[in-house]
Parts: sequence; C-alpha cells; structure tokens
Amino acid sequence: MTSFDKKAPQSPLTAILSALAEEQQGLIELLEQPRKTVHAGRDFWQGTLHGQPVVLALSRIGKVAAATTATALIERFQVSRILFTGVAGGLGDGVEVGDIVVAKDFLQHDMDASPLFPRYEMPLYGRTRFHADAALTALVQAAATATLEHSWPEDGRLAFAGAKVHHGLMASGDQFISGTRESDELRQSLSAAGHHVLAVEMEGAAVAQVCHDYAIPFAAVRTISDRADDNAHTDFPAFVRDIASQYARVIVEKFLGKL
Ligand code: SAH
Repeated sequence: MTSFDKKAPQSPLTAILSALAEEQQGLIELLEQPRKTVHAGRDFWQGTLHGQPVVLALSRIGKVAAATTATALIERFQVSRILFTGVAGGLGDGVEVGDIVVAKDFLQHDMDASPLFPRYEMPLYGRTRFHADAALTALVQAAATATLEHSWPEDGRLAFAGAKVHHGLMASGDQFISGTRESDELRQSLSAAGHHVLAVEMEGAAVAQVCHDYAIPFAAVRTISDRADDNAHTDFPAFVRDIASQYARVIVEKFLGKL
C-alpha cells in the first residue's frame, strides 16, 4: 500500500484556553492562517501556532463558563488535548507573585453537598480531585522551567528574583479571593480535609471535570498574580496588564515546541 491510498493523517488539534483577553491577544497575533468561528456566543480561533494546529479560546471567568467553553472545544472542534494558561492567587507557603504553578490535580473549593457527601467530594463521581494528564503535564513543567530561564528583555519588568515552578493541587471556585482572612480560612479548611493547595483560581477544576468526562488529556499552568490576600485587588490588575501575557506567550511557545 502506498501513501497515495490514504489521506495524510491530520495532526492532533491542541486547544489553548486562556482565562483573560490580555493573555489571548498575543497568541492570536502569532496565529498563522487564522480563522474565526463564533459558536455558543464565543470566538474560537483556529490556525497554526509554532507549527502546530491549534484552536484558541477564552474560557471566560468562573466554573460554568469555563466548562461550556471546554465542552464546545471537544464537541464542535474535536480537539485532542487542552492546555489552560492563566493567572492564579498563591495560597501555599512560598508560592509567590511571579512563580508558575503547573497543576497536578484540581478540586472545587466551593463544592459542599454535606452531609449527603463529604465536604469537597464531587457528588456521584466518588472523588474529590480530578487529575491533570501526566504526560502533557510533564511537557508543561519543562515549558514553565524554560520560561523562567528565558532571556527576557532587559527592562526589569519580568525580573522576579528567584521565581520558581511549583507542581501540585489547584483549587477552583466562583470567588475572587482577595482578603487575608478569606485566604487563611480557605487554606485552613482545605488543609483540615487533607488538601494542601498551592493556588486558587476560578476555572481549572471545571475544565478538568469536563476533560475527565470525555477522556481528553488536560494540563493547566498558572502564573501567580497575587497572594489572594488584602493586596490582591491591586496586585492582580497590575500583573495582568504588565506581565501575564508575556509569560503566557513564552510558555505556549515552549510547550508547542515540545509536542
Ligand atoms: N474583572 C476581572 C476579573 C478577574 S477574575 C478582570 O477580568 O480583570 C480573576 C481571574 O484570575 C480568574 O480567571 C481567576 O481564575 C484568576 N485569579 C487570579 N487571582 C485569583 C484569586 N486571588 N482568586 C480567584 N481567582 C483568581
């Protein structure tokens, strides 16, 4: 049989979900042969990025919006894998602004169907956490490490001395955590239930649940924009404006180069 007998196999399509328009814009600008589709009230951008077929989408904010976007990516675009890039609040010890957290697993910190189910357990799933795909996550970890070693422009804006890559548990919920008391309470109640969380955000666990349901490999990487404390409301917008998009652009480039 010669190669003429078959159509050339198509490369698997990778979805890149961004949380914020600021992070996505830099990726759209680099997209080759961009094609926009509007579906479910959202814009989906297909094309080639660093030699890989991709579809770019904005998750929007919160669990339901992110789950809808992930479902559309799977059902409508038949993506083979999903990478989430975004920012998050640092909750764990030593998880500081400018660090990168690569998710190992996810839970919903606002899930509470007790006393019917234990606190944080996902009803009818018999589990509390959803796992990121190990192989995809290993590539993201390598991309995140290379991003911190990247030679950034010498304007000092990305100079987070000693910035680190962490790997562990992410907590998602429909709340922007921006108070020292709230973040302490969240850390303590999760830790009392045996969950040592590195970072808090608003979408990852929902996308992980959808990807679990469809058996689609999922990985997530978050740059720490704030410490979810009393300074979060000023740290977050400044970080997003000046820095998040640059991190996202380099992480995605290094990740796609490893596929
Ligand atoms: N109006 C704001 C809303 C941002 S909500 C804006 O668009 O500028 C915060 C986003 O960043 C969410 O996508 C969430 O996943 C993430 N995030 C960053 N820090 C967070 C924190 N301290 N608590 C919860 N989510 C956080």
